[in-house]
Amino acid sequence: MFRYLIALIFTLAGTGVQAEPLFPNSVVSNDLEFIKVSDPSALASLALVGRDRREMPGKATPGLFSDNVFIFEASYSDGAVLEFWAHRRFKSEARALKTVAPVACAVGRLPIKMRQHLDHVVLHTGDHTAHAEDLGRFFMIYEKNVAKRLRTHDLDETVFHESVHATLDVPHAKSRAWRRAQQRDQAVLTAYAADHPKGEDLAETALFAYTHFKTPGRLPDEVTVAMTQLVPARLKVLEKILPLKTARDGGSSHCR
Ligand SMILES: [Zn+2]
Repeated sequence: MFRYLIALIFTLAGTGVQAEPLFPNSVVSNDLEFIKVSDPSALASLALVGRDRREMPGKATPGLFSDNVFIFEASYSDGAVLEFWAHRRFKSEARALKTVAPVACAVGRLPIKMRQHLDHVVLHTGDHTAHAEDLGRFFMIYEKNVAKRLRTHDLDETVFHESVHATLDVPHAKSRAWRRAQQRDQAVLTAYAADHPKGEDLAETALFAYTHFKTPGRLPDEVTVAMTQLVPARLKVLEKILPLKTARDGGSSHCR
């Protein structure tokens, strides 16, 4: 039996055949609820603390630095304090807060260690998909995209995905352990991860793994079965590197 399995693995490895991704797009373009808005958020307070110059990279803003940025400070029940920088194009505190608040709540639902490793969050107006800066440990997110994700219940998934880039990609996305797991599995969970094995596979797979480990039973049985069959090596790596502990309760009125 053992010899047969080894032979099978070598046969599969030799063919380079990959199973079709479980999901045709990315983690936000399916109906699965990985993280729920009813899950507790650790956000304890959120307030504008000033206007200042900040490094504000973005998809539609020229130059790296911007003046007059709205600086919001969020504190979390685990002790993390995080700044949310909203571009001056938001024009008013009230308008900026409409985007900052739900993102700050979603950050409050992240595992504590991921939240503590985030450096800050950059918020822009406009309609672009979020992206992250792995070495700088921050992500950028856009007003209209946040509104869209709120409507489709995908904001928490987006924030989780970008936070994986910002807090776990370095050093894990290119680590030997992860690359070896990718080779062993011979399958990928989403087409987005399949198209970008170096940049997106960890962030895409991490959300499935996190939900599977943190809230067993939340993913549909067929997804759990398929996942454990398709990417067992990745799950093993993620079991070691994914922080699972979240805040028990935020006590924040912002997030309800
Ligand atoms: Zn990504």
